[in-house]
Amino acid sequence: MNKDTPMKPATVAAQALGWIDEATKAVAPPLHPSSTFIRDADNGYSSGRNYSRADNPTYDQAEAVLASLENAADAAIFASGMAAATVVFQSLEPGDHVVISRVMYWSLRNWLLTFAADWGLKVEVVDTTDLSALKAAMRLGETALVWIETPGNPTLAVTDIAAAAEIAHGAGARLAVDSTVATPVFTRPLDLGADIVMHSATKYLNGHSDLVAGALATKAVDAHWEKIKRLRIQLGGVLGSFEAWLLLRGMRTLFPRVRAAAANAMAVAQHFRGHPLVEDVLYPGLSNFPGHDVAAKQMLGGFGGLMSIRVKGGERGAIATAANVQIWKRATSLGGVESLIEHRASVEGPDSPAPPDLLRMSVGIEEASDLIDDFEQALTAAQN
Ligand SMILES: *Cc1c(COP(=O)(O)O)cnc(C)c1O
Repeated sequence: MNKDTPMKPATVAAQALGWIDEATKAVAPPLHPSSTFIRDADNGYSSGRNYSRADNPTYDQAEAVLASLENAADAAIFASGMAAATVVFQSLEPGDHVVISRVMYWSLRNWLLTFAADWGLKVEVVDTTDLSALKAAMRLGETALVWIETPGNPTLAVTDIAAAAEIAHGAGARLAVDSTVATPVFTRPLDLGADIVMHSATKYLNGHSDLVAGALATKAVDAHWEKIKRLRIQLGGVLGSFEAWLLLRGMRTLFPRVRAAAANAMAVAQHFRGHPLVEDVLYPGLSNFPGHDVAAKQMLGGFGGLMSIRVKGGERGAIATAANVQIWKRATSLGGVESLIEHRASVEGPDSPAPPDLLRMSVGIEEASDLIDDFEQALTAAQN
């Protein structure tokens, strides 16, 4: 390929970098279940592989595609999004100060405030949409990491990645971004100054609700990244080769899936904005949403497929609405081709930033009018 005309990201994804299996000339990649690799007669490992907790050849293409999509120096896949995220924190030293977004994946926040705090990290929760609050939280020479999630789940709070990077770096800290909801289709955090990007690959990267996986991508292959790679081997949060193969297959359709989901989310959000049975629609694509201007600056080409609707009638109204959907599926998770709806406050517990009347909606790639009509009838049915 002429290097003056590099492939666009959508082409990289569809062709999975255009790799062809050398041994067979296969267009679809082989799957390598082997846990172990042959040692040479001279006692070395000329293949560069020895054991699958360290590495597996089925990872190579998925990691290379993700690194390309994120404009990263390297990427690593993990057994889950949580395995990927927790390794970033375990690569720090006890006593390090870390700042995390108030609105973020609840299970990671819970782990940070319990296990990670007991282990010695000084975890501080900050509303990172407020840059002066973020700045005020930084401790020069003591803050090791700022962890943000944008758009944040489930209120879709938007944090300015470029500004957060500047603030973190000014205090000598790194910036890590959970970009699961934004996806590499719409946001490239490393280009905006972040050091590490994390994905729950369970969600949009795979896109079919049929595996659990995670990923990290890094701006630089430095000592910190080497430690993260070493921790993957030592802690053992590695992905099975079949899941890695499925993940690559899912990533090939990332762009059309995510673009279709975002177009549907915009249609659903616009339809229910100002609806008499709706209190508020939370979606970064709506011009009146508080984070819209920052989202418009850092999300290119769309605002993603995740949104939330606050319904009138409080918690009871929200749960009754979810009870009446027929096409939307009542289930946790997000980023699949099918639309899912969930009452988040009852999942996240008392310290959740999710209001009790909020339904989180992962918009899939179905016909938009089916999704709108179904939610409309559910709102009406919940009145009775
Ligand atoms: C699901 C999710 C995670 C956790 O990922 P798992 O693959 O479930 O371990 C982290 N962050 C966000 C934003 C998520 O949606």
